Amino acid sequence: MEYKARCHCGRVRFSFRGPEIKTGRRCNCSLCIRRGAVLSSTYIPAADFTPHHDPGDLGLYLWNEKVLSNYFCKSCGIFTYIGDGETPRTATVSISAASKVSMRSPSKSASSTARHCR
Ligand SMILES: [Zn+2]
Repeated sequence: MEYKARCHCGRVRFSFRGPEIKTGRRCNCSLCIRRGAVLSSTYIPAADFTPHHDPGDLGLYLWNEKVLSNYFCKSCGIFTYIGDGETPRTATVSISAASKVSMRSPSKSASSTARHCR
């Protein structure tokens, strides 16, 4: 299934392919708790992920081991995805930003307590 996603103001757009999203994951790291992100349950391989075309539109936040790049829109501040570099080989996406996703209670998924960020 193809998912198109965007930030609030529409400046940042990205897309990804994968099985139908039926649940998400709430990571319990200190960053995700504060931003309230609902993430994809698995990492999306580069072949199935198209990041935003212009890195200049994206803010980047690195923390902890500085391995994972947390991208957000420079204009509206919405968190979009986590990648492992400017051209991510894999990404975890904010499924809140994706269209066609409807979930009743992602925080109650079986994986809700798993740590997704490092
Ligand atoms: Zn934006």
